[in-house]
Amino acid sequence: MTLGMLFREGKETLRKAGIGEWELDAWYLLEEVTGITRSRYYLDQECPVEEADEHRYRELLQKRSRHIPLQYLTGVQVFMGYSFLVDEQVLIPRQDTEILVEEAVRHLRPGMEILDLCTGSGCILLSILKIIPGISGTGADLSEGALRTAERNRKNLGVHGAFVRSDLLEQVEGSFDAVLSNPPYIPSKEIDGLMEEVREYEPRMALDGGTDGLYFYRKIIEQSPAYLKPDGMLFLEIGYNQAEAVQNLMEQGFTGIRVVKDLAGLDRVVYGRLKPQIDGGKKCLTD
Ligand code: GLN
Repeated sequence: MTLGMLFREGKETLRKAGIGEWELDAWYLLEEVTGITRSRYYLDQECPVEEADEHRYRELLQKRSRHIPLQYLTGVQVFMGYSFLVDEQVLIPRQDTEILVEEAVRHLRPGMEILDLCTGSGCILLSILKIIPGISGTGADLSEGALRTAERNRKNLGVHGAFVRSDLLEQVEGSFDAVLSNPPYIPSKEIDGLMEEVREYEPRMALDGGTDGLYFYRKIIEQSPAYLKPDGMLFLEIGYNQAEAVQNLMEQGFTGIRVVKDLAGLDRVVYGRLKPQIDGGKKCLTD
């Protein structure tokens, strides 16, 4: 079997399985197995493939045909230009989330301390630590498996940063210049309607935002002021239709609230600054 024949077989297999990007995915899996580059492929199409590679390629095609996401098969996803290891313990970093990182980076400076809640692969925290050396950061997640993957990513990227197992802020100590989060925000009953790759293979706990999708925003917005320094900021990724609800939730404790759109023109990030705390944060509504 030649390389060209094997690639054609791969494309055909994925097309028949109804994989949206069948051609690209067949290519990435071939690249994964053989380590070949695109230009080398054109020169070597007629070369025979090693049997072990043929076998391994077919194995991966079978998995992709079952709609296992490509990134769980190759084990990587690039985010903010950095390679992140991914596995079924973590949500695959999304390009949309780069908007959150880019917005946060405009407000962050060396010497600051940041906290990333629901850190997953660690992609938000670790890319910020790469982009602004001199920032220190903590990532929190409830999932042990996610924290293991995040720690591997931290080592790979060669940055300092701490991870803590915590249900949101429960086990977190310290006070921060910024809290960031891309929490689970899909309303529970909408999860069944998502594409198979997401619904069947990405961690449900990384997706499920409770009945109305706002469960984590309520908690984070309520709890984070106690962990923010004066003037501290809160950055949240949101679903396309959640800006108004999240803005409303933030209004009591935060000021200068802004909504940022993603590249598709959809609301994607809400952020704001902690309101100055009067009377130790307690409001006197009555005399
Ligand atoms: N913070 C991670 C990311 O943005 C994981 C988010 C999550 O699990 N909801 O990819």
